[in-house]
Amino acid sequence: AKAAGRGTYRFFDEGLNRKSGYELELLRDMRHAIRVGEFFLHFQPRVEAYGYTLSALEALVRWQHPRFGLIYPNDFISIAEKNELIIPLGQLVIELACDQIVDWRRRGIPAVPIAVNISAKQLKSGEFVGKFISTLVARDVPPQLIEIELTESCFVEDIDDISGKLKEIAALGIRISIDDYGTGFANIGHLKEFAVHSIKIDRSFVREINNTTNDAIIVDSIITLAHKLGLFVVAEGVETKDQLTHLKSVGCDQFQGYYFHRAVPAKDIESVLKNGKFLP
Ligand code: C2E
Ligand code: MG
Ligand code: MG
Ligand code: MG
Repeated sequence: AKAAGRGTYRFFDEGLNRKSGYELELLRDMRHAIRVGEFFLHFQPRVEAYGYTLSALEALVRWQHPRFGLIYPNDFISIAEKNELIIPLGQLVIELACDQIVDWRRRGIPAVPIAVNISAKQLKSGEFVGKFISTLVARDVPPQLIEIELTESCFVEDIDDISGKLKEIAALGIRISIDDYGTGFANIGHLKEFAVHSIKIDRSFVREINNTTNDAIIVDSIITLAHKLGLFVVAEGVETKDQLTHLKSVGCDQFQGYYFHRAVPAKDIESVLKNGKFLP
């Protein structure tokens, strides 16, 4: 519905104005929304190729807007990045993920790591590492239960600064992965110089893997090279059995996508945590 809504806007000038009006309103409301708790998390499982066991959850932020209803990150993350609110918003996401771990621990629900998405601006802010660590320490969340996902855009500027920060984070036992791999310009050999554990192949390559020879070749090569460099590989956007079969045959380590589970509120993921297994 979101995509359709956006598509229809494009045909009308009036709609275009309405769309920028929408963005302006989101921009204006965001600071207040962070303060009053309109942002919350959905969780999507990541599944191990071997045995289809649950390996982690990805935390995906949502905005319950009082007038617009449920809003997805594609509508507000870039706005937050432009107005610097990505820093408090990103910090809030880390706190919400840690609070969820604490809640499940208190209620005796089995734990798996939660991966949070970190924007380049957030990572580059001076306070990031210190604040991140103190958030975990304050809640007694073991570093093994939090992972971070970074996009390739983190690896184009301020390389020494980023490299140092990632080393510091990884030294604590926090896993780092490169999200949407293949859509940016990061060189995979270069990535190995960073303290990165895994790459997530962007879903645009997965989508056509059974139909487009090029995408199949690209995915196959990425996996081979990543493995040679000692990196794990996750495929995102796995929607069909055929995609899964292909990805398994080329040695992909983990999968995420609608084929297994959509991103859902915490309470709807608890049965998955208790069960810990998926059917192929
Ligand atoms: P991402 O990190 O690559 O997350 C995966 C996105 O793909 C999610 O969309 C997820 O719901 C969607 N997805 C998962 N499986 C499938 C599938 O099988 N098919 C299709 N078509 N889509 C699938 P979502 O939640 O709308 O998030 C979009 C993007 O927004 C994320 O992409 C991430 O880049 C960003 N994002 C989400 N939460 C945060 C956050 O807390 N901080 C920052 N900086 N960015 C975030
Ligand atoms: Mg991600
Ligand atoms: Mg991704
Ligand atoms: Mg993506």
